Amino acid sequence: MVRVVELEKRVLEANEVLARAVRELLDSTGTLGIEVLGGPGAGKTSIIEQIALRVKDKLRLLYIAGDVATTIDAERLERLGVTSLQINTGRACHLEAAQVLKALNEVNLEKFDVVFVENVGNLICPADFPLGMHERLLVLSASEGEDKARKHPFIVMAADVVAVNKVDVARAAGVNVDALVRDIRALNPRARIVLTSAKTGEGIEELVKVLELPVPH
Ligand code: MG
Ligand code: ZN
Repeated sequence: MVRVVELEKRVLEANEVLARAVRELLDSTGTLGIEVLGGPGAGKTSIIEQIALRVKDKLRLLYIAGDVATTIDAERLERLGVTSLQINTGRACHLEAAQVLKALNEVNLEKFDVVFVENVGNLICPADFPLGMHERLLVLSASEGEDKARKHPFIVMAADVVAVNKVDVARAAGVNVDALVRDIRALNPRARIVLTSAKTGEGIEELVKVLELPVPH
């Protein structure tokens, strides 16, 4: 048991070292890094698409998708003209900094203002594996109920920004969105919270501002 815990500690520490290398690489080229976290189907890719639609003419975007299988998400962003890379994680349920570092080394980062890294759809272990990005954007689906944050406190606490997504569906279904926001605030008072709908576009402009994307005026 003790050995298992030791091993886990070493894995986490090794990841932190590589996360710092990712951050140094991003900073060396002045590229803003945003990690997008959330459960399967929460709307991570859709939120990134909506942001990309609004800023892709002004900012050079790179998208890195972590998925257990398929290149579906990377193809979605490619279709918008966003340079995309796919990391297939196989059986792994989260991305690690080593994979992100490898992907970033495959491109000339000088050519990109912002990189979005979409983690594997999972509300549990990605919290423990920071990827060295400047911001961790959690996409939480409000339509799944007002107890979502309370059920997954660690990922809420790890987030810098929380997009409470699918608010249109949630309101129609009678979900108490205010209660969900109160829970997020209680768990993580420093998190910036934005109510969004990737479908209607609600909150996307605000999210662009909150993420401080370096959009030239
Ligand atoms: Mg996705
Ligand atoms: Zn995992």
